[in-house]
Amino acid sequence: VRSLSGRELAGQIRAATADLAARLTAAGSPPRLAIVAATADESSAWYVRSLTRAADKVGIACQVAELVEDISKTLSMLSADPLVHGIILATPLPDGARLAALAEAIDPAKDVDGASPASLGRLMTGERGFAPATAEAVVRLLDYHGVALGGTRVVVVGRSAIVGKPVTHLLLDRDATVTVCHSRTRDLASVTSSAEVLVVAAGRPGLIGVDHVAPGAIVVDVGTNVLESGELTGDVAPEVAAVAGALSPVPGGVGPVTTALLLQHVVEAAGPP
Ligand code: NAP
Repeated sequence: VRSLSGRELAGQIRAATADLAARLTAAGSPPRLAIVAATADESSAWYVRSLTRAADKVGIACQVAELVEDISKTLSMLSADPLVHGIILATPLPDGARLAALAEAIDPAKDVDGASPASLGRLMTGERGFAPATAEAVVRLLDYHGVALGGTRVVVVGRSAIVGKPVTHLLLDRDATVTVCHSRTRDLASVTSSAEVLVVAAGRPGLIGVDHVAPGAIVVDVGTNVLESGELTGDVAPEVAAVAGALSPVPGGVGPVTTALLLQHVVEAAGPP
């Protein structure tokens, strides 16, 4: 099976980002990212650490704001801060809180993960704005590996506002014929096995097995699941490698491209040097 690695592409995006960040800093406007996160949560803390490290490597400064009671107020203050160019609200959020609703307080010009209703609306209508980085990463990864999308039968598993729906829209924009599946889809395997390109973003380890994949299909695994053993795994079972034509690895596929794009969005938000 061909591996749809994201490492090389991520490296290219990072190099371009570092170059622009250096020019911005030299021009007196160092790019800065604010991350709002509940750092007491282990997965949030891990995300903050890895993102901060990645940002540091390309010359983007980070500040972390603790996710407390009045999230909207924190986001509004950061939106008004001229020294902050990008704002990310990390999940998980407190019970009952909805990402898109809270993200409404993020200035769309600083919404580098395209999470707000304004950004998602822009994505739908084709106006300039930031797409959610994971969704964009899926399309960039397919492009990088030369997978044609025009007229292609694509199936997306997952319909969240931050991955499934935006990736569906980006694929439609590229003239793919897209079918979206979710937890209420009847006979998932019969739908997914009709895909020439299968994009899986369900957050269920091993959800996609050999029976779900047509021989030779191209499979992008967005799933990022931490097993009890601490091992990181996707949504696609390892056996799928025997039938698929190409498969993105976890880790090392969509993940590094997502991080690189997020940081690229920050320097873009900081404007031309
Ligand atoms: P989410 O909000 O939990 O959405 C999961 C989606 O999968 C839902 O639409 C759900 O359907 C569907 N689903 C769940 N179980 C299913 C099943 N048995 N059969 C069919 N569909 C099923 O998750 P998310 O935020 O979109 O993230 C999805 C995955 O991507 C997670 O593993 C996450 O960690 C990963 N992720 C990776 C990156 C990256 O950079 N690589 C970034 C973000 C997220 P319903 O709508 O019916 O509930």
